[in-house]
Order: sequence, then structure tokens, then C-alpha cells
Amino acid sequence: MPARPLVLYPDPRLKTPCAPIEAFDETVRAWAEDLLASMDAAPPRTVGIAAPQVGILSRLAIVDTSRNPKHPDGHGLLILVNPIIIAAEGEQIFREGCLSLPDYTANIRRSQKVTVRAADLSGQSLVIDAEGFEAVVLQHEIDHLDGLLFLDRVANVKTDLFRRKNA
Ligand SMILES: [Zn+2]
Repeated sequence: MPARPLVLYPDPRLKTPCAPIEAFDETVRAWAEDLLASMDAAPPRTVGIAAPQVGILSRLAIVDTSRNPKHPDGHGLLILVNPIIIAAEGEQIFREGCLSLPDYTANIRRSQKVTVRAADLSGQSLVIDAEGFEAVVLQHEIDHLDGLLFLDRVANVKTDLFRRKNA
């Protein structure tokens, strides 16, 4: 279960909508292990990763907000196959970063609460109600599966996009 190299913007794979996963087999379990290993190899406090960020163009993502001690609430490790947002409400603006855009952060407007339906690695259905930070991360990772980056959601590049200080 090796960490895979990160796919960085502007690689076209990040703009490609990912294919649904239809078989819950060893291949998908191996992808999930690679994704988890890639998350472990990423900077500390990395709270989400999506399969296309390691070159797998299938609808698989991992969210684990417990990796950021500032955000102790949440469900812990979530391995999500074919996740979709089935309900959303409210609004929040949060400063987001992304492993595929290491030099930037941006203020992004998203729903305050979401309900996500997904499958786990055995194909069992999951329904997750999340709010606040965890809801942001879920929306961010599901966007990746649709070929969307936070850059695509920046309302005003002049005021909402920031270059990281160490970049
Ligand atoms: Zn990202």
C-alpha cells in the first residue's frame, strides 16, 4: 500500500469527472489503501484526499477531520465510495487549502450543513450528516470527483485567493 505521487494543478486529470465505482473488489480496496498512505505521507493535518489527486479517476475519497486538532468534532475516518450530497443547507465561508494547489489558499463559500450518501468499501450504504469544517471538507473532496477545484469556486480572485507565505 504505497503512497502515490500527488497530482498537481494544472494537471488535466484534476479537471476530469471521475467514473463511478461499480465493483467493490480488491482493486478498490487497494486504491483506498494507497489513498490513505498518500494522506499519511502528506503534510500533517491533511484532512481529506480524493482519488484523482493520486491519479485514480474513480469516485473514491477519504475525509478525516480528526487529523486537525482544531476541529475535534466529526466522524473521524470516512472512506467514501461514490459519495453524493443529497441535502445541503445554510452557508459558510472558510479558508481552504488543497494538496494539489500547495501554493494557495482561498476563501470559499459553501453549505453549512450537508448530508452525504456513499458506500463503504464493502458496498454498504452510508449516510453522513456533517456541519461546519467537516461539511467543508466533504464538499471539497466531492468536488474533486467532479473535476472541480476550489479555484473554480473563488468568487473574486483579487480578494479571496491567497499565496501561501512560504511559497
Ligand atoms: Zn483538494
